[in-house]
Amino acid sequence: MTNDPVRIPTPARASWQRQLRDAVRDPAELAALLELPLDAIASGRAAGNFPLLVPRAYVARMRKGDPRDPLLLQVLPTALESVDVPGFTADPLAESEFADGGLVRKYRDRSLLITTGACPVHCRYCFRRSFPYADQLAARNDFADALERLARDGTKEAILSGGDPLSLGNARLESLLQRLAALPTLRRVRLHTRFPIVLPDRVDRGLVELLERTRVDVVVVLHTNHPREIDGDVAGALDALRGAGATLLNQSVLLRGINDDADTLAALSERLFECGTLPYYLHLLDPVAGAAHFDVDEPRAEALYRELLARLPGYLVPRLVREVPGQASKTPIRLGL
Ligand SMILES: *Cc1c(COP(=O)(O)O)cnc(C)c1O
Ligand code: SF4
Repeated sequence: MTNDPVRIPTPARASWQRQLRDAVRDPAELAALLELPLDAIASGRAAGNFPLLVPRAYVARMRKGDPRDPLLLQVLPTALESVDVPGFTADPLAESEFADGGLVRKYRDRSLLITTGACPVHCRYCFRRSFPYADQLAARNDFADALERLARDGTKEAILSGGDPLSLGNARLESLLQRLAALPTLRRVRLHTRFPIVLPDRVDRGLVELLERTRVDVVVVLHTNHPREIDGDVAGALDALRGAGATLLNQSVLLRGINDDADTLAALSERLFECGTLPYYLHLLDPVAGAAHFDVDEPRAEALYRELLARLPGYLVPRLVREVPGQASKTPIRLGL
């Protein structure tokens, strides 16, 4: 007989795949978890073909009882999405013109691969919410055509996008990285991902190890819009990515009612820096149908930007840009005098 205290086993955390399967898809359940009256989010049913999807790890960072929570607003479908607003269209970036076999080639020396249509979260303002993933998947025939084209182009940088490229499992991702690394002109692989933010357990040992093994330089461009998105688990995931040798950058979208104030944006930059991540872009919203209610007009964006310039060191100020189809790069917003 011993008098050892009873040990309550802590259940190991579920795999990221399991957490993704268990993500919240029902607005009524989200209301219950957040202790919100159902009518506060009832219009969440107006989701159409882009329904609610949010992992519980992300819901856990939302404030209970607050229908204006900046994390909730990023994922909650509302009736406003069905309002037709002139100038807001299905393909605001004319990607259908530039996409071919799952490659979007707009800029010199770098090409974007649509690796998957799957995302760990459905962001209501997403410019690819109506993207024809079925027609544009570089993953078709196991990336063979896309890789051949990258080789022919002499591409220096492959940008893995989607969807979210970390939706691919580690084995597929590593095989893709190996084949990219075999292209003689390829120097860098960039991953544009929201996974480490919304489901940080995606950064598992296998992912860290495969990133460590590749010969190419890896840049991870995160997508974070609000400082409260970065809790301890996210900080740990970013630390692991950095430990694997990746350079970490962040892009944000300027979103009305979510991060359109200088305090929030400055706090986001500071928090990112604490996690080894530099702010890269602050995008004006792409005018995609269903997202007009998030739009911040350009004069207001400029005013906010001036405030950021005045209060942050230069390296913590992201570049304020918008995407104009047909231009040779993202278009910097020039400040008037
Ligand atoms: C944004 C984007 C890139 C990357 O542009 P950078 O300015 O290098 O970050 C590349 N291809 C496409 C199609 C893009 O939309
Ligand atoms: S994770 Fe990225 S691609 Fe997916 S819905 Fe959000 S913004 Fe769009």
